[in-house]
Amino acid sequence: MRENEAKIEIISKSENEAFVRAAVSAFFMQLDPTIEEISDIKTAVSEAVTNSIVHGYAEKKGKIYIDLYIKDDKIKIVVKDNGCGILNVKEAMQPLFTTNTDGERSGMGFTVMETFMDNISVHSIVDVGTKVTMEKTLGKNML
Ligand code: ATP
Ligand code: MG
Repeated sequence: MRENEAKIEIISKSENEAFVRAAVSAFFMQLDPTIEEISDIKTAVSEAVTNSIVHGYAEKKGKIYIDLYIKDDKIKIVVKDNGCGILNVKEAMQPLFTTNTDGERSGMGFTVMETFMDNISVHSIVDVGTKVTMEKTLGKNML
């Protein structure tokens, strides 16, 4: 039985995204992931953290909490913010849905997270915050 966990806390500055990617990657290295698995995990975490920065804390700065868990060959990542929250989570998770109006966002963040992780769940309360939980089993392509 292998179990481990780590917690990362940042303020919502885009400069901290590279730090989160590097820390997440370093933590999960103990599972001997493939390059593709690590790349998938980093991409999914980046999307969630970017969302907290650009949407959750659009009007202000705040804290983002990234919790990492290992249980045997399963990993879990929780990205949490105390930002503006999402009015309709089901709608927000649809491919191409975005509340961004200046054409800078494509509305594909949640779709990317769903593609690169095995499952993702999103809990959000308006004016309270958003919590994204992602899980993935590593080593699936070893056989
Ligand atoms: P892209 O990720 O392609 O740049 P996007 O961020 O708009 O575009 P998604 O990541 O799929 O697309 O998110 C969809 C919508 O969900 C966002 O436009 C935003 O309205 C809302 N959203 C996502 N994460 C959060 C969050 N942490 N806090 C508040 N709103 C969020
Ligand atoms: Mg996004």
